[in-house]
Amino acid sequence: MTLPGEASVMTTYARYPVTLVRGEGLRVWDDEGRTYLDMVGGLGALSLGHCHPDFVRAVDRAARTIGLTSNLFATPPQAKLAATLAGLLPLEDPRVFFCNSGAEANEGVIKLVRKWGLPRGRHVIITLEGSFHGRTMAALAATGQPPKREPFEPIHDWFRYVPPGDVEALKGALEPGDAAAVFLEPVMGEGGVIPLDLGYLREVRALCDEHGALFAVDEVQAGTGRCGHWLSISSADVVPDVVALAKALGGGLPMGALVAPAPLSFAPGEHASTFGGGPVPSAAALAVLDTIERDGLLANVAAMGELLRAEVARLAPAGTLVEVRGRGLLNGFQVAPGIAAHDVVMAMLSRGALASTAGPDTVRFTPPYTITAAEVDEAVKALSDALGEVAS
Ligand code: PLP
Repeated sequence: MTLPGEASVMTTYARYPVTLVRGEGLRVWDDEGRTYLDMVGGLGALSLGHCHPDFVRAVDRAARTIGLTSNLFATPPQAKLAATLAGLLPLEDPRVFFCNSGAEANEGVIKLVRKWGLPRGRHVIITLEGSFHGRTMAALAATGQPPKREPFEPIHDWFRYVPPGDVEALKGALEPGDAAAVFLEPVMGEGGVIPLDLGYLREVRALCDEHGALFAVDEVQAGTGRCGHWLSISSADVVPDVVALAKALGGGLPMGALVAPAPLSFAPGEHASTFGGGPVPSAAALAVLDTIERDGLLANVAAMGELLRAEVARLAPAGTLVEVRGRGLLNGFQVAPGIAAHDVVMAMLSRGALASTAGPDTVRFTPPYTITAAEVDEAVKALSDALGEVAS
């Protein structure tokens, strides 16, 4: 059914033919009363699921306490969130800049490393081919996917793209000594859910140190616990210099963060965001972090992710998948040539399960961290049945 008003929405997304009206945990309902298991989870943003009571309580309380104060004034939720994040992340004496989205967090990263690099004669930022960093102009320029950039060229030309996992190519790109930073997603999300090799991530750290460049990570999709650690790069035991967070941090409200050591921080007047870190989204993010800690959700993310990958590998009809990839609850299932990931997602939809695609050949699951083993089984069954239908 076409929703009244829908035609007035700019069609930047090819939408699935479902209107969602209500949610609880991993369950959502459409406007005709059908229910679905939500393995999209707000494209990775819905860390606690729909309408988690602690999230709802925190948002309700914050909204009743004070409105937006702008960043001209301090507020308790923002200060507490900054201190909590600073305590959870492995960076030394970090400072947090709050914003509203992944692209905005990445814009902050890019601006910060350029501020650091320009006086040092370092104007280049090295990013990965196939990467995705957002749709605003600098984040788009950083994105290593030419079809997304080309319609908007000329575009910032200070990005140098190297193939992911290729140490020699990275060495070559660092060689001229003009790079301010290497900037990458430890698990490349939109590019097909590609977890970078842990040894490669350690090499990147070592090469950045050797060549005097910063190591910045886009943890927008993979961070805030999605891969079983507060930062996905912690799987490699690597500490980055600069971090961008968003998505899961806000638990469904717009919230992004740029985290950097104190000496790298912006000075007053160099960067800003009217809505960034307002009392309501800050209270929401605090509820997210507290609930993850209190309920041991990082362990659940790791355990359910393993179960999911093992069960998909075991139950997917023979010949339908090329690869099962992921860390924690950021997972991609690459379909065999001749199968379109979109068709699989549509077949899942008709079976009552929501999934997304990451590129043309990968079905992606980014469910809430609260997922249970029974829900994993349900998702695996929907995927396997959908694969069987599309392949036949
Ligand atoms: N960076 C990564 C790794 C992402 O996956 C995304 C979104 O998918 C972004 C940045 C952009 O985030 P947003 O859509 O919140 O601007």
